[in-house]
Amino acid sequence: MLITGGAGFIGSNLARLAMAHGHRVVVIDDLSTGYQENLQGLDLRFLPGSILDGDLLADAMDGVDSVVHLAALGSVPRSISDPVATHAANATGTLAVLEAARARGVSHVVAASSSSVYGLNPALPKSEREWVRPMSPYAVSKLATEQYPLAYQQSFGMKSLAFRFFNVYGPRQRAGHVYAAVIPTFIDALMRGEPLPVNGDGGHSRDFTFVGTVCRVLLDASERRLSHPEPVNLAFGTNTTLLELIAELEAASGMTAQVVHRQPRPGDVKHSQADNTVLRSLFPAVVPIGLEQGLAETVAWFKEL
Ligand code: NAD
Repeated sequence: MLITGGAGFIGSNLARLAMAHGHRVVVIDDLSTGYQENLQGLDLRFLPGSILDGDLLADAMDGVDSVVHLAALGSVPRSISDPVATHAANATGTLAVLEAARARGVSHVVAASSSSVYGLNPALPKSEREWVRPMSPYAVSKLATEQYPLAYQQSFGMKSLAFRFFNVYGPRQRAGHVYAAVIPTFIDALMRGEPLPVNGDGGHSRDFTFVGTVCRVLLDASERRLSHPEPVNLAFGTNTTLLELIAELEAASGMTAQVVHRQPRPGDVKHSQADNTVLRSLFPAVVPIGLEQGLAETVAWFKEL
């Protein structure tokens, strides 16, 4: 299995799980936002470099039968600062991965899109049949990430699955950089005794999914070579406001949080919640890890850092 972006948060958790299930794993990652130490102790083939490097990517496909494509420049604000870099890594990068996979006759590709594609669509929960209206260059690039592999089913008969991740959290998701996600940012501030920065009034809500649950679904999709003609939401229809999240984090850590409110960020949607009907029908056996347990495991990882 080739995991692009395998030194990142989700990719390194997937590499561990896949290897525990007996898979041989190859990782290509340019370490732009990932960390080689995420792969410490894993006996896998690591190729440092970009998916935009055609020769390196062809090398990475050597002996590979399935691809989980996670490499991307994440973050809405990053894409607003530098839309071209986001497009290159996420849109052009996805096309490069598909072309390299096609050239090698790889049998299955899983790709990681994002709930941000729904953008201006106010419907809740979000079903995959709802219209999409991206609000940021990042969301546009993720539309390409999901639509190319689906088009490759029709154009080339390639089996593929395009997931829309919502807010994934868990061990190995780091804080301490300007584009960090909300849960690591909050835990990091809590541990330092600093106020938790809340963008807006705290009423923004998200459908948080624990990384262990996401990786089980990714591995299952890959092992079964599951193909589906439409994107699939990978979240379980939960709805947690930032203020509720803070209360959960206080319970998980046994600490008391101070909060500082900031302006809402441009491009951020107010509410996000998945319709998980399609996910449940494709993965009837999956049991998601709840927020309480997931946050406990995440806080425990931060305490070990
Ligand atoms: P991450 O930043 O930790 O991982 C992405 C990895 O891709 C990093 O290791 C980075 O170094 C690597 N990368 C970036 N550009 C590259 C390039 N050109 N060539 C090779 N490697 C490159 O982020 P993550 O949270 O693990 O996200 C994984 C995927 O899931 C991404 O595609 C992201 O867009 C998608 N996603 C994540 C979330 C979430 O909540 N974490 C939500 C929606 C979508």
